[in-house]
Amino acid sequence: MNAGPEHDALLEGIHWLGHDSFRFDFNGKTIYLDPFNISGNDRADLILITHEHYDHCSVKDILPLSDENTVILITPDCQSKLRDFKGKVVLVEPGKSYNVEGVVVETVPAYNIDKPFHPRENGWVGYILNLGDRRVYHAGDTDKIPEMASLKNIDVALIPVSGTYVMTAEEAAQAVSMFMPKIAVPMHYGSIVGKESDAERFVRLSPVPSKVLEKE
Ligand code: ZN
Ligand code: ZN
Repeated sequence: MNAGPEHDALLEGIHWLGHDSFRFDFNGKTIYLDPFNISGNDRADLILITHEHYDHCSVKDILPLSDENTVILITPDCQSKLRDFKGKVVLVEPGKSYNVEGVVVETVPAYNIDKPFHPRENGWVGYILNLGDRRVYHAGDTDKIPEMASLKNIDVALIPVSGTYVMTAEEAAQAVSMFMPKIAVPMHYGSIVGKESDAERFVRLSPVPSKVLEKE
């Protein structure tokens, strides 16, 4: 179902930069998640990376965003790519909580059920960002997994819909029904895999108010 203007406040400060890339503006901090093929010359206080695939752990995007005060959360397999990173590196694993730059960030497992690209044993993640009293869940590269049933009080869900490496739009609609966020936003399309039509189909099928964001 389509979100209405009454849901806009939930999405304040959340910017979709294409594919799985987002920028969050929160309390004067700039947070990037999986920056990939982004433009401009911004600086990040905090960068969150879901896994080491080149379109998620993108060194050519991460390094220009960073200085010695930037904190980056990565899965351990991204480490070798980030030798030139000057800030602070925090290694993450699924099912933990991290307090970084004044933001509490929780990690959620992200993996495939019926395809080989993202094995569960790799320990790759999605993130829940606690932005004030708003909880924003970025699912990472994942299928619909049982752990989603225990997600609590999610306000905004950023959900992959492309199929192939991750969930299809149909599966993504079923996935959000497991934890019923206040609003859902499709991602992981329009770049490497997946089309705008996948995003639109997700919005139609979604049991919660949902919105296709304009790429910034
Ligand atoms: Zn991936
Ligand atoms: Zn991906």
